[in-house]
Amino acid sequence: MSSILDVFLPTRCVVCGAGGGSICSPCEGSLKRLGLPLCERCGATTAWPVERCRECSGRRIAFSHARAAVEYDEAAKRLVGAWKERGQRSLSRVAAEIVDGVVARPDAYTLTFVPADDNRFLKRGHNPAERLASELGRCWELPVLSLLRRRPGVGRQRGLTLAERRRNVRGLFHATGPAPRAVVLADDVYTSGATVSAAATALRQAGARRVEVVTFARAVR
Ligand SMILES: [Zn+2]
Ligand SMILES: [Zn+2]
Repeated sequence: MSSILDVFLPTRCVVCGAGGGSICSPCEGSLKRLGLPLCERCGATTAWPVERCRECSGRRIAFSHARAAVEYDEAAKRLVGAWKERGQRSLSRVAAEIVDGVVARPDAYTLTFVPADDNRFLKRGHNPAERLASELGRCWELPVLSLLRRRPGVGRQRGLTLAERRRNVRGLFHATGPAPRAVVLADDVYTSGATVSAAATALRQAGARRVEVVTFARAVR
């Protein structure tokens, strides 16, 4: 479906609406890349390099590090929104190329992704996190494995406070089998870190020793 739409709809920049491509180069250039200094652990932007920051200190986090390419600002929200709703393959590629340009290739042998819930997958017909993983797998020459399942009936995160989000995702994922020792976990957006931490917990319960999180965008507080 999405590939048919890609062919027959005139392609316009998903951020500003200019013609000629799924994102125009000024808009692509205007996405705010997340550079140093960062929190070593969760990837938050900080005034100077720190091991843990205000956002993540004192929290139990199941991943080793989280890194993201761009700030989740209005332009990034439009791009991610179009990418999720329309599933344009070209946007997955754009997102992966931006990640590849900003985030160092993690030291791991396998890529996996946060699974979509069944309803949304059925509605959209694709999972943006899986598409991002598959494009990153190409850039980084890493195999992509589907290692996680989402337990049905666990609530959505939208509209919840940070504390509620963290409670809400406990036990949300389970692994489908043994996980490799070092895994890169891809998702589209890092908001509170609760979802990727729950996914990393499931991977570690399945035998992963190190889980590195990579997302396209990250909320900046
Ligand atoms: Zn544009
Ligand atoms: Zn931090």
